[in-house]
Amino acid sequence: MIRPIVKFGGDTLHRPAEAIQTITADLAALARDMIDTMHAAPGIGLAAPQLGVPIRLFVVDLSLGHNPQELIALVNPVFVEREGMQLEEEGCLSLPGFNATVARPERATVKGLDLEGREHFYSGDGLLARAFQHEMDHLDGRVFIDRLRGVKRSLILHRIRKRMRKGAW
Ligand SMILES: [Zn+2]
Repeated sequence: MIRPIVKFGGDTLHRPAEAIQTITADLAALARDMIDTMHAAPGIGLAAPQLGVPIRLFVVDLSLGHNPQELIALVNPVFVEREGMQLEEEGCLSLPGFNATVARPERATVKGLDLEGREHFYSGDGLLARAFQHEMDHLDGRVFIDRLRGVKRSLILHRIRKRMRKGAW
């Protein structure tokens, strides 16, 4: 089921998410909704706080739904390794219409549990490493513009506030 995506300003986007204690049928249903919502957007990643649920779960799919092998759903993910640095344009389904160049690790390995409770490790570089870091940031209550400095961040914030005032956010 496709669910509405919480936009910048929504409470769950700006505070750290809680660790998941038990993997339940409800959690698996939420993960399916996250995948449906991500594919419909379309986007390459979505974190549970973006659906208003402040728990540590994210989904990533660089194939946009074309290759089930590329679909990753991780419960309580943590970084095992991060190295290097890349600078690329990035956006977020919670900040529609905005993007900016954000520094991210060039390579990253994450580990976490799948929806059956089995541990998995995923390593990626380039876009996949960027997606991991972006989604992990969501679980820590951070969005990509929080990684920007000074005038760039202020400019985007100013535009978002303008849209909020107009009721167009
Ligand atoms: Zn995002």
